[in-house]
Amino acid sequence: MFLIFGTSGSTSVQDSGQFYCPECDDYKNYEHKKVQKKASLFFIPLVPIEDLGDYVECQDCKATYKKSVLDHDPKAEEEKIRSLYYFGTLDIMISIAHADGVLLKEEITEIRNTFESIIGSEVSEEFLNQQIEKSKETNYSPVQVASALAAHLNDVGKERVLRGAIAISKADGVIQNEELVMLHDISKALLLPKTYANGIFGEEEVKLI
Ligand SMILES: [Zn+2]
Repeated sequence: MFLIFGTSGSTSVQDSGQFYCPECDDYKNYEHKKVQKKASLFFIPLVPIEDLGDYVECQDCKATYKKSVLDHDPKAEEEKIRSLYYFGTLDIMISIAHADGVLLKEEITEIRNTFESIIGSEVSEEFLNQQIEKSKETNYSPVQVASALAAHLNDVGKERVLRGAIAISKADGVIQNEELVMLHDISKALLLPKTYANGIFGEEEVKLI
């Protein structure tokens, strides 16, 4: 009797699920496959002896990708940015309104109106009160919130945040000097181009400094 030893490549499915396929530009099923060199006996692969790599394969278009493609989820990323922008704007408005230590009723109403127009639906008083309490606890300044947001927003998003800030500063009827300085600091922290920011300030009748 004689034995035939050899090696052969063998592909096995490690796991599967749904992913965003860049080729299909849509969510599709994938298989995560691993290729191994296996020792074989009579041409039957038996024991893995070397990892030759792995890849993710779209089950629709059959395109193959590195495993890192599974980390890319544009819908979830868009959702994250949107909520960051919503809550960032809300945070900025609350911290501006609260900067002088008191939160006036008109300011709360203005925050609520502006926030509702941004998200396009009504918010409950309870929700707003929770956000106000949270914002008091974390106590970030409006400028800190603005710089945290800057990297994640485009100019249109930044414009909305700045207009929200201006609306709250106007809520008590007059823009105080400190508020004026703060609004300009916010536009700088948002990294809004100066001419763009000055255009917004002009339209909103906010003095330039
Ligand atoms: Zn595909």
